[in-house]
Amino acid sequence: MYKLTYDLHIHSCLSPCGSDESTPANIAGLAEILELNIVALTDHNSCKNCPAFFKAAENYNFIPIAGMELMTEEEIHVLCLFPELEAAMDFDEYVYSLLFPMKNDVNVFGKQIIMDETDKIIGEVENCLINSVSIGFHSLSGEVKSRGGLIIPAHIERAAFSLISSLGFVPDDCGFDCVEIRSKEAVDNLKKQHEYLQKCRVVHNSDAHVLEDMSLPENRLVVAQRNAGGVLSALKT
Ligand SMILES: [Zn+2]
Ligand SMILES: [Zn+2]
Repeated sequence: MYKLTYDLHIHSCLSPCGSDESTPANIAGLAEILELNIVALTDHNSCKNCPAFFKAAENYNFIPIAGMELMTEEEIHVLCLFPELEAAMDFDEYVYSLLFPMKNDVNVFGKQIIMDETDKIIGEVENCLINSVSIGFHSLSGEVKSRGGLIIPAHIERAAFSLISSLGFVPDDCGFDCVEIRSKEAVDNLKKQHEYLQKCRVVHNSDAHVLEDMSLPENRLVVAQRNAGGVLSALKT
């Protein structure tokens, strides 16, 4: 068994609110310096910088995870993580077809930059990634699981764009085994208030939109296999 440090929620320059310095290569390089062992790239409604992130990670020791932070039609933010890059890119294509078709206004939301592993700009996403995707929360889990992945409702204690702020409660049939709670102090209270959470694994991530907000190596996950499949298995149990 390996006790590995992680940060499973990081945005790159592809996210409308992500810093231009948060290139896939810079995130990978800093993850290595910080001695993080597991790092997921989770841009808003898109995996299009994951290929560059994976290429950049080839030079380093950490385990890269391909993901996205999807906003459901109920405006719930949910991390979707995949065991392989290919599965994530297949999901990315599916999600983009269901994204509200509004062109991105660069002056309002900023650029949505796709890069290669050397920080070269290779494209921009045309439709605004800040909008919701027409997938309901209850059907999301099945779509992600069918591609081998798992969902993690993000920052569930936040007053906006969270499972609890949107639904007001945690339903019994929601199909997840792991939740993200930003504040460690909030965990006990949330578990008391929402019975479903008692059987869930809780993770703490940075939700970094700038490089300096990435996690220090202080949160750990015990995994049986040192690869993305092993990480996802550990998150499910
Ligand atoms: Zn979010
Ligand atoms: Zn986020």
